[in-house]
Amino acid sequence: MFQRRGTSESFRGGVAISDCVLDLDAVAKLGLLSGVSGAAVQAATQGKLNTSMALGNAAGSALRVALSSALHVGASEQTELQACLVPQSEVEYDVTARIGDYNDFYTSVHHATHNGKKFRPDNPLSPYYKWVPIGYHGYSSSIGVSGECFQRPQHQTLAPGAAEPVLMPSKRVDLELELGVFVCSGNALGQPVSIAEAEDRVFGFYLLNDWSERDVQAWEYQPLGPFLSKNFATTIAPWILNLEALAPYRLPFTRSTDDPQPLPYLDLDANRAQGSIEIQLKVGLLTIRMKSTGELATTICRTSYRHAYWTFAQMLMHHCVNGCNPQPGDPLGSGILSGPMLDQAGALIELTQSGKNPLQLSNDESRMYLEDGDTVQLKGWCEKSDAVRIGFGDCIGTLFGALRAEGAPHALDVPATIGPNE
Ligand code: CA
Repeated sequence: MFQRRGTSESFRGGVAISDCVLDLDAVAKLGLLSGVSGAAVQAATQGKLNTSMALGNAAGSALRVALSSALHVGASEQTELQACLVPQSEVEYDVTARIGDYNDFYTSVHHATHNGKKFRPDNPLSPYYKWVPIGYHGYSSSIGVSGECFQRPQHQTLAPGAAEPVLMPSKRVDLELELGVFVCSGNALGQPVSIAEAEDRVFGFYLLNDWSERDVQAWEYQPLGPFLSKNFATTIAPWILNLEALAPYRLPFTRSTDDPQPLPYLDLDANRAQGSIEIQLKVGLLTIRMKSTGELATTICRTSYRHAYWTFAQMLMHHCVNGCNPQPGDPLGSGILSGPMLDQAGALIELTQSGKNPLQLSNDESRMYLEDGDTVQLKGWCEKSDAVRIGFGDCIGTLFGALRAEGAPHALDVPATIGPNE
């Protein structure tokens, strides 16, 4: 969803073509597309993409084919469509869908193990982790789009040795490197999809940062899981990568024979054959000082989605197996996508071993957790020699101080790319 920056235009859908956005509202007005692709382009002219998602992936696929063919050099529609291209440098984005509900999962067994060691050193994984895609219900209204700024949250916490908790600004604001998907063509209440249908109910992948505050998380999480530690801000990237585009990067989804195999409702030959995807991921951290001296962000993590323990098809299947009815435009988050090695950890709590070992940045600064003014940039891409390289764009967010001045902006003029454009 985009509009020209600084205008009062309506937000509408767009497709990334090189460094431009193809304006789907302008394309619809040309009246060149009909049938399924015509319906798909009309749906994308609305202020959010829920209707597009409800049409299902077949409509998205038809639109993709129609646009690719119409933009092809020499196509009769090429000149008209070229006039619908807007430079990405001139646009601003909005959250892609009108979001009703939001669930976030916990799909990195490496993160779950590293994190669990703090509480259960001898048996870090919950007994049900390898049987159930674990998730929690997040808050949808505080989901924002890349470029946003949010305020350091305050919360109640108990200091070590103190008798009573106090209300104070969080000292442990953290990032979470995740991928998200939107649900498309949801299921009716009481009528779960099957695992064979589940992947086709997933509308593309995007970068997601589930900002978290670790001090209140430890204080509040038992027995019902995270609440205020997670609901103050979530940033998502504006660009969604559909599954067709990711097809060249599919990998087998394997389970160690030492692990429990998924129950039949979570298992499918097609999922075992190619349920995983090689998506490269990295996290950049840019401090106020780096901004003032023109330095690039420090890369603090590099990992891949291939390390996920559950696929999104399994997560969605589990979500609705009891009859629950996710709706078009509801996001599912993967949870932190840490790999097995320490420098593949997708959150500061893991990178600093719970705030014990400071993370050294590329200048002489270091971090345990985020400080005021820090900007975090998630990046994702797929690349190999025999396929087209695909980028996921940026997912950027900035932490303000606890007392943001009245009238302070909700978005800073942070460059779209704050490091090498991978
Ligand atoms: Ca999370």
